[in-house]
Amino acid sequence: MRLNITLKDMVLFSEDHIQETKRRGRIEVICGSMFSGKTEELIRRLKRAKFAKQRVEIYKPAIDTRYSEADVVSHDSNIISSTPIDSSASILLFPSEIDVVGIDEAQFFDEGVIVAGLDMDFRGNPFGPMPGLCAIADEVSKVHAICVKCGQLASFSHRTVKNDKQVLLGETAEYEPLCRECYLRAIKEDQQTASD
Ligand SMILES: [Zn+2]
Repeated sequence: MRLNITLKDMVLFSEDHIQETKRRGRIEVICGSMFSGKTEELIRRLKRAKFAKQRVEIYKPAIDTRYSEADVVSHDSNIISSTPIDSSASILLFPSEIDVVGIDEAQFFDEGVIVAGLDMDFRGNPFGPMPGLCAIADEVSKVHAICVKCGQLASFSHRTVKNDKQVLLGETAEYEPLCRECYLRAIKEDQQTASD
């Protein structure tokens, strides 16, 4: 399903463009792997907007019920209250007198607005609407985890359990952040064990 969401009424603050924050219709994307701090960065930006008396609304897909029904919670338990919705169409049903819209786990939405989400799935493929959103965004912040094998910056979320479904919500034990080199090696090893 495709949506024509108008971005005119939505704005999100950005570190580098303070003057531009008064302009409406700005799109920012925060993307990265598991354990890269995407949600924490989203929460940080939204809390800052809230402190500046901006009216903030945050949405997350109803599919993501790992921690709490109504809150966006990062792995380190930073909490900001949110509205779980089934699809991005539901965003249009909510009151429009809001200044900042935040969307967490945007890779699960059909279309998104201002977002934090996984840019790649566990296969290393672009995830859901994220690549398109990155393309149309005013600013893209790619945040990184640290590779658990070698300590370099990590962009990949390697799945440590055998399951081919793209969406597998679960414990952090089911994924590990890896750099490209270690990810490619791990994938190769996975294929070898699968064919044994
Ligand atoms: Zn590595």
